Amino acid sequence: MEEFKPQSLFIDTRVAHFPVVKRVLSLWPHLKPNFVDDLSFLKQAIPHSEAKKKLLITRFDGSVVKPCQGFGDYVCCNYLTVSLISNCHFECSYCILQDYLKNNPIMTFYANHHEILAQVEKFLDERPQQIWRVGTGELADSLALDPITDFSRECIALAARKQNMILELKTKSNCVDHLLKLPHHNKTVLSWSLNPKEHVKKEEHKTANLDERLAAARKAANAGYWIAFHLDPLMHLEGWKKNYEELLIQLADEFCSEEIAWISMGSLRYTSGLENIARERFPKSELFLGELFKSPDGKIRYLREIREELYTYVKNLVEKNFPTVPNYLCMETNKVWERIYGRTSTQGEIEKHLNERFG
Ligand code: SF4
Repeated sequence: MEEFKPQSLFIDTRVAHFPVVKRVLSLWPHLKPNFVDDLSFLKQAIPHSEAKKKLLITRFDGSVVKPCQGFGDYVCCNYLTVSLISNCHFECSYCILQDYLKNNPIMTFYANHHEILAQVEKFLDERPQQIWRVGTGELADSLALDPITDFSRECIALAARKQNMILELKTKSNCVDHLLKLPHHNKTVLSWSLNPKEHVKKEEHKTANLDERLAAARKAANAGYWIAFHLDPLMHLEGWKKNYEELLIQLADEFCSEEIAWISMGSLRYTSGLENIARERFPKSELFLGELFKSPDGKIRYLREIREELYTYVKNLVEKNFPTVPNYLCMETNKVWERIYGRTSTQGEIEKHLNERFG
């Protein structure tokens, strides 16, 4: 995995005294901080490769707790997202942040994470009847920069003391060493997005390779954390059947069902604005050559027949190797759920799985 090495640092004067600023300054003493009152000159559409070399530390003042983006007929996996970081120094060719953040792509840490987590706590306290899965990985990888920010420590502490919260930290990194001794009380799931090693090499640049991710997952499981895997995005690349079969064999060799909270599957999807950006930034990518079309939610996806072929094959491998681990589809239509599982998914069903595992 490649480390984040910013070349310029901007600090919002309102957060100059926050702990993460002190950590960043001590970690990179060679970086000369630019203290700024007006951030408008930083919030600009600059090329992503340039934006990923700049770091801004500021505060987040908006509404922090957002439901994940299920839309229309697409089934949502009952998830709340909280942003503590914006953008990611990894370079997955298909990363939708290249489009989502195109007008404001500079790497950003939100130093007021205590206030953000206080809002999460209030949200949970006002809705005590339901178990909420909370994640920090919508606008960033949850763990890739955590040895620098140390944000997850307090997220894990919050989950440990809230009866109705499960924290999920989703990553393509191997950054877990700093979390292994924390008192997580089995309320945090450390999860890895996985793809076969050939797909990682071709499309997930700068991330931890497959073996590094699985070694980190082994450490997490040994430390008593629940672990989870997201086979996402499933890629319909040459040799995919053999590649996913080898991946599931490797998982079954290295993990047992009792350690895994869930396994999800989601097929490649991206915004219509992404394709041109990605083709320009990753001209060797083979992902955008497939049979893809625009779905009703505006995202580009494989044709339904291809998605169903992927899900049927990979779900069989998952259930053959991990028959007792709950599996589900992420961001799919009820029609596809019905054809793959013989039934539609409901929010209630996902809650039932959570209650069984964590209630
Ligand atoms: S790890 Fe996630 S957030 Fe980072 S570049 Fe890849 S897809 Fe984007």
